[in-house]
Amino acid sequence: GFKMGIVGLPNVGKSTLFNALTKTAAAQAANFPFCTIEPNVGEVGVPDARLDKLAAIAQSKSIIPTRMTFVDIAGLVKGASKGEGLGNQFLANIRETDAIAHVLRCFEDGDVTHVDGRVDPVADAETIETELMLADLESIEKRLQGIVRKVRGGDKEAVQQERLLKAAQEMLEDGKPARLLEVDEDDVKAWKMLQLLSTKPVLYVCNVGESESAEGNDHSAKVAEMAAAQGNSHVIISAQIEEEISQLEDDEAIMFLEEMGLAEAGLDRLIRAGYELLHLETYFTVGPKEARAWTIRQGTMAPQAAGVIHGDFEKGFIRAETIAYEDYIACDGESGAKEAGKMRAEGKGYEVKDGDVMHFLFNT
Ligand code: GDP
Repeated sequence: GFKMGIVGLPNVGKSTLFNALTKTAAAQAANFPFCTIEPNVGEVGVPDARLDKLAAIAQSKSIIPTRMTFVDIAGLVKGASKGEGLGNQFLANIRETDAIAHVLRCFEDGDVTHVDGRVDPVADAETIETELMLADLESIEKRLQGIVRKVRGGDKEAVQQERLLKAAQEMLEDGKPARLLEVDEDDVKAWKMLQLLSTKPVLYVCNVGESESAEGNDHSAKVAEMAAAQGNSHVIISAQIEEEISQLEDDEAIMFLEEMGLAEAGLDRLIRAGYELLHLETYFTVGPKEARAWTIRQGTMAPQAAGVIHGDFEKGFIRAETIAYEDYIACDGESGAKEAGKMRAEGKGYEVKDGDVMHFLFNT
């Protein structure tokens, strides 16, 4: 599965957000730095209205959304790369994530202490980015030392690694995150293996005040500008409101959202924004037993998409009976789509499209 790490300075609303996400009160939010000591891991269903529509047509007994993992990562402070606060643990946890959801305090509240004594989300973002870059520089130095002998011995992989590490080092010493490095096609795999922290895509989560979650405020506007300039993305939510909504029944939640002037819960937007940031898409399997959503990266071929369900599906792949989502709906289900000639037999070279309803045929 895909994993997003929730990071941010202490007291910005990470735990509140994480609680809302996982609908648990387990990770206690408190007005105290380092409240979240253990990294908390939560799996959330990715909301997708299409799945419910498919299930209704097929009269599926159960509905299983695709899932995404969120990791609430312990508070970071200035100096974390030097081992201050919970620095090292933080850095190890973040290395394992696919992307970073960076919570920024955009709400004013005199009762909630800010570690630097002022609300300035752009400066906060820079503080954390700087720590990530310093940590990268340190790990690059260590790794360069570690491969010296292999490089001398002419080991091809080590030579490639050294070249990439040095390019990243130059970039970082220039004060820029490693994600700005342009990497050749041939180097992409090795580059990803380096797992540098400042290469992770970032989704800025602007945590605004309760009455501001529809439009945002001046703080979130500045974050939006910064995110656009970096090629990252952002969402505006109020963690506190999301936590309240997460405790309501579905129909109550809908009424609450209407009263607030919101089209949907901020968490739904957050999860989807993460999905887009990672270039993920969804295909469906639909039957009377269950309607289920599956996650793939954009550009995945049919056999590899089948492999998400089970390795055997990929190994023994024969073909996939495929109906586009719109056709499935328009034809009122599988048999209608079949009659209308909208069910396609697709082979190994088929690139699965977002929304495809798939039925895989395979040898065992
Ligand atoms: P963390 O240290 O980043 O995990 O922050 P927490 O989630 O523990 O929140 C720190 C404090 O800020 C808690 O007292 C929360 O109730 C409060 N808080 C979180 N989000 C909001 C918000 O949107 N508005 C206000 N006014 N307070 C918030």
